[in-house]
Amino acid sequence: MINTKKAQDYFKKNSKNFIEQLARFVAIPSISSDSAHTKDVDRSANSVAAYMRSIGLEHVEILQVRGGKPAVYGDWLHASTKTSTSPTLLLYAHHDVQPTGEHNKWKTEPFKAVKKGDRLYGRGAADDKGGLMMHLAAIASYLKTKKKLPVNVKCLFEGEEEIGSPTLVKLLTKYRKKLEADVMVLSDTENYAADIPGITIQLRGLISCHISISALEKPVHSGGWGGPIPDPALAMAKLLAKLTDGNGRMAIPNVYEDVELLSSEQRALLKKLPFDLNKFRKHAGVLEDVELVRQGDATPHEMIWHLPSLSVNVIQVSSRAQASNVIMDSAWAQIGIRLVPNMMPEKVIKLLDDFLKKNVEKGFRLDVKMDHVLPPWKTSIEHPAFRAAERALKKGYGKEPVYMGCGGSIGFVEPFAKALKAPALLIGVEDPETAAHSWNESLHLGGWQKGVVSMIELLGELAESSK
Ligand SMILES: [Zn+2]
Repeated sequence: MINTKKAQDYFKKNSKNFIEQLARFVAIPSISSDSAHTKDVDRSANSVAAYMRSIGLEHVEILQVRGGKPAVYGDWLHASTKTSTSPTLLLYAHHDVQPTGEHNKWKTEPFKAVKKGDRLYGRGAADDKGGLMMHLAAIASYLKTKKKLPVNVKCLFEGEEEIGSPTLVKLLTKYRKKLEADVMVLSDTENYAADIPGITIQLRGLISCHISISALEKPVHSGGWGGPIPDPALAMAKLLAKLTDGNGRMAIPNVYEDVELLSSEQRALLKKLPFDLNKFRKHAGVLEDVELVRQGDATPHEMIWHLPSLSVNVIQVSSRAQASNVIMDSAWAQIGIRLVPNMMPEKVIKLLDDFLKKNVEKGFRLDVKMDHVLPPWKTSIEHPAFRAAERALKKGYGKEPVYMGCGGSIGFVEPFAKALKAPALLIGVEDPETAAHSWNESLHLGGWQKGVVSMIELLGELAESSK
């Protein structure tokens, strides 16, 4: 058996220092979607790289392809001995973050990590600098005490996950040899609860689509011209309204064709998970008198993990600051469709495109542009790495992990799993209260510490299970 005790003791004694390091990462506003923060994303990559060197990772370098944001790579590959070869893990997280959204909705400064109660507040504290720090704290705890890791480790910390990883496949192609691994461990997902660990085994995909409806060269006076002049804002509202039915199901013909129905065993398993509707509403921030969307007797988890969904992310016509009595020249919207495993992005794109063209009111100019597309992903849990993860998480949290789905997408998983033919363990540090991508994002520190303890165990377990 690999002795993990020294590493565990080191982590427990130094957990405060690791959290301080996390706070230093949070202080860098590495917003990948905003070109005004390009330098910050670079600074974030350099600071992650410097820290990786300081804990003893080797060959630390910035990997970047043309037009892409900087990813950070580093490895430690001395676990194999003369008599035994050790597996190589690829540890993934991302160091870029979402924009803050409305700044005045934050109760603390977004780029200053603040501890309140058992949570650490700040943009990226959980998604995904907390995940990145889970890997690095586990590695540091071994290297500082035992001077070695039980397995070979490669780290890849991406810098453009929050914008749909536009150059990730290019990066994978270019550095294929360097990134080769036997098992991938990703920390960018959620636990079932702060104290109940989760292993995510499927992700929804995403089609993000830009719709523009225009009719005029310029805005005109609604009194002087209202009547004969077509109104793009109204046309946009009507078109968007046609996309779903009264139950929130997409009204695009044939779009549900490839959605796999759950078996009765799967549904029974889902129903057995502890679930508190009031907490669910509270974590989502649903207003008191507002009703949830219902589709048959599907539970919220079934809807988020196993069914597709459509949301309108942006509608832009004029703005509140510019409000006046006008008919605007054009209207713009971004919609997103979340895809479940087995749905094919190309097919859904075609169905959506046809639907929009067929349903826009006559007399308007319609432009549809797909912004980014990520396929859904699903894995089987047969590989022994999953048993190792189950044991490690049980040791770290004192509870059996839940196999769960994730409503979101991580661009890294599908292409890497396919290219490396390696199992992907998705073990994260977020929890239902994290508010990732929203204001007041936070990390549950107790849950995070259990995550690091589990990660220390996982490196040991994976070394053992490969023997
Ligand atoms: Zn993330």
